[in-house]
Amino acid sequence: MTQFSSPPSFLRKFLHVVFPTLCGSCQTPLWDDPVPFFCQACWNTLEPIPSPVCPRCGRPFASPISLDHSPTHECGSCRKRPPAFSQAWSLFPYQSPLKEAIASFKYRGRRSLTTYLIQAMVPALPILPVIDVLMPVPLHPQRLREREYNQSLLLAHRLSQHLQIPLLLSCLLRIRPTVPQTSLSKNERLTNLRRAFAVDDASRITGKRILLIDDVFTTGTTLHECAKTLRKAGSGPVYGLTLARML
Ligand SMILES: [Zn+2]
Ligand SMILES: [Zn+2]
Repeated sequence: MTQFSSPPSFLRKFLHVVFPTLCGSCQTPLWDDPVPFFCQACWNTLEPIPSPVCPRCGRPFASPISLDHSPTHECGSCRKRPPAFSQAWSLFPYQSPLKEAIASFKYRGRRSLTTYLIQAMVPALPILPVIDVLMPVPLHPQRLREREYNQSLLLAHRLSQHLQIPLLLSCLLRIRPTVPQTSLSKNERLTNLRRAFAVDDASRITGKRILLIDDVFTTGTTLHECAKTLRKAGSGPVYGLTLARML
């Protein structure tokens, strides 16, 4: 009977043989890989974005010595159009297998990936300044109905437990439905999110140091617009943390 000592694992292996699940990145049939929907070999390729990066928006600098003589040197785009957030960190490049994992997590209801994404994020977290509250970038209610959950909230909830910083919800609202930033040109992205956000009860954020959590940093416009709305409503400095960044 010893081979039946762990029925769920046995059953899982049996089901994998009958109905093989393929790795979401390389399509290899999965056997007993620990991360659901991805093989261990693909998952092992996840590497944090290497330094140096822009100290404001996290954009990687091409030269490894960019910050040696002036550690506060910001990238061209931050100098040209200073973002409303004080600093943003992105942990991983938006590429395989994370790209497919985020798509599964976001659009295919694979919430079980949250645990594995958080396990990857925790060791890659930066040293954060003092933060009073965490806030997920909100979804418009219409999109939330279609998707049933906000992927940024799932990440923010787990990070709040890990960092022991409270989560503040239903304060920053998305009041205008917008098309995904990834489907737009650079110029369209800048205007797509204007007046898309609002603060419900400003007294809850007065002077608060806020860390916004989102899944992907595309151009930084989402974090910028959220931070602008929060600062206007009287918050303290606003920071941003994203799982991935488009390079
Ligand atoms: Zn794979
Ligand atoms: Zn920058």
